[in-house]
Amino acid sequence: MSQVLRYTTKSLISFLFLSVAQAFPQQQYDSVAITIFNNSLKTGKAFDALTELTTKIGNRLSGSTNAARAVVWAKSKMAEFGLEDVHLEPCLVPHWIRGGSEEGSILTPGGKAIPIAVTALGGSIATPKQGINAEVVEVHTFKELDELGQKAKDKIVFFNRPFDETKFNTFEAYGEAVDQRWAGAIQAAKVGGVLALVRSVTPHLDNVPHTGVMGYMDSVTKVPGVAISTQGANELSELLKKDDRLKVHIKVTCQTLPDVESANVVGEIKGTEFPNEVIVVGGHLDSWDKGQGAHDDGAGVVQSIEALRLLKQLGLKPKRTIRAVAFMNEENGGRGGEAYAAKDRPGETHIAAIESDMGGFMPRAFGVSTDSVRFKSIARWAHLFSPIWADRIVWGGGGTDISFLEKKNVPQIALIPEMQRYFTYHHSDNDTIDKVDERELELGAACLAILTYVLAQEGV
Ligand SMILES: [Zn+2]
Repeated sequence: MSQVLRYTTKSLISFLFLSVAQAFPQQQYDSVAITIFNNSLKTGKAFDALTELTTKIGNRLSGSTNAARAVVWAKSKMAEFGLEDVHLEPCLVPHWIRGGSEEGSILTPGGKAIPIAVTALGGSIATPKQGINAEVVEVHTFKELDELGQKAKDKIVFFNRPFDETKFNTFEAYGEAVDQRWAGAIQAAKVGGVLALVRSVTPHLDNVPHTGVMGYMDSVTKVPGVAISTQGANELSELLKKDDRLKVHIKVTCQTLPDVESANVVGEIKGTEFPNEVIVVGGHLDSWDKGQGAHDDGAGVVQSIEALRLLKQLGLKPKRTIRAVAFMNEENGGRGGEAYAAKDRPGETHIAAIESDMGGFMPRAFGVSTDSVRFKSIARWAHLFSPIWADRIVWGGGGTDISFLEKKNVPQIALIPEMQRYFTYHHSDNDTIDKVDERELELGAACLAILTYVLAQEGV
């Protein structure tokens, strides 16, 4: 390209850009977005906050002392970050505890005990004190188990369907495998099984078991539900091929105690023109009792609080109210999200709800679930995220905590980050602060700040 042509082209582009900016008011937010991104990378506080939460408190299972400490911490962090009307909104939460030691081993006919890494699934009952020693049937689907029928009686039912590694969308792969964890104990008991042993729902091969919530049905006998590491699952499967009469020993000591009073933590920036129109942004403060609950979901909590701090730092005054919520009890009950949506808030309307609960990784997109008119209205802001190559607003999004607002017809939005590593860490001892990248986490907070601000200014 010649110099003259290059100059002319450049002028033409600037001219067109300015004309477009005048014709389409959304262009005015481009510079706000860039400033927010810059500030988040230079002076962001999400990572420091997450370091505090994960190292000074640690994991935070609902009903635990740590969860109670996290509530106090989140409240003071919101106040420190200059949020307004910081308060607690109480909710009753389940109180399940893991108890003492957990044991797992493969008992070979030769008298050898090969240790396997196991952990109780959340909500499970305990095994008898001495544990359970039983033969094992391996299955991959509930249909396969039904077909076994009586053959599964008095056995440990080993659900070994792997996480589909071919799926780019790891949340989809998770969704396809997690039925074993959720309903494994019910299905096992229906055919007379004595325990459900479930392959950890992760694409990663290691010796770390991943927990997660499981269910029971009142009409079906309760048997323990226990996760086994992926390495342990492969080893057990191999040994079963050689000898299907081998036994497995499992001991877990968990129990469910009475519900405990806990709370969501709430803070906001009050809207200057339409204070009763609210955009909620949140993550969940509780975590499983494994690792530090860093990606799941300390990340989402600190990003939500930090988003409001970034707006405050720039002196931006949203027309509508932007409210950050650190929800309690997403993992094993959703009671916080339920309580938030059920609370009477006279005169208020929620115009959008955004959740960050897919890990604190590099932002890639926002996912939106709503009608097509409001989807288009939200999707017109995609370009604001182009400076970090995250300018995609796609169909389908939300989060457990905000899902209770869906009944009130509130658009559901998820911050979607890069998702290849999430399930390597999820619900396990692997989920620690050293797995979180500071810049990626801060950029997620910036994305939340930008989207909440533009929705507060322009509505949905
Ligand atoms: Zn989560």
